[in-house]
Amino acid sequence: MYRTGIGYDSHRFAAGRPLVLGGVTIADGGGLDGHSDADAVLHAITDAVLGAIAAGDIGEHFPPTDNKWRDAPSSLFLQHAVKLAKEKGYAIGNCDVTVLAEAPSLGPHKQAMRESIAKLLAVDLGAVSVKAKTNEKMGFVGRREGIAAIAAVTVMPA
Ligand code: MG
Repeated sequence: MYRTGIGYDSHRFAAGRPLVLGGVTIADGGGLDGHSDADAVLHAITDAVLGAIAAGDIGEHFPPTDNKWRDAPSSLFLQHAVKLAKEKGYAIGNCDVTVLAEAPSLGPHKQAMRESIAKLLAVDLGAVSVKAKTNEKMGFVGRREGIAAIAAVTVMPA
């Protein structure tokens, strides 16, 4: 049977860090604060995979209090979630992500993010969608305080 999970994450901007979204380093944007590399996109997808298999959330698997994960690439988190899904007998069906950022403009980076995410999920490019939106200058995203991401992932019996 098919199962679906959703994930959400947000991080505030921080000086002196690279901006990493969907596993892609984006040179024209300020970085995000966080214990790991603060990749809000991969964190949302990781939670969506964990949600689909009812395996808790990213904070349970990778506590921010654990120094082991300081500046860790978030690809590790996502790959772990995919492995857990596999162990439970599931393969990833598809992944759909919306990234909310007032700046930088993420349109030019959507394709690179899709390719990176498809690789991490071990699925075809056609199974991964990345959409970028501003928040129409409203709220914390609109004030350029941070970036948020929402993801949905479907899994199916392997
Ligand atoms: Mg996060």
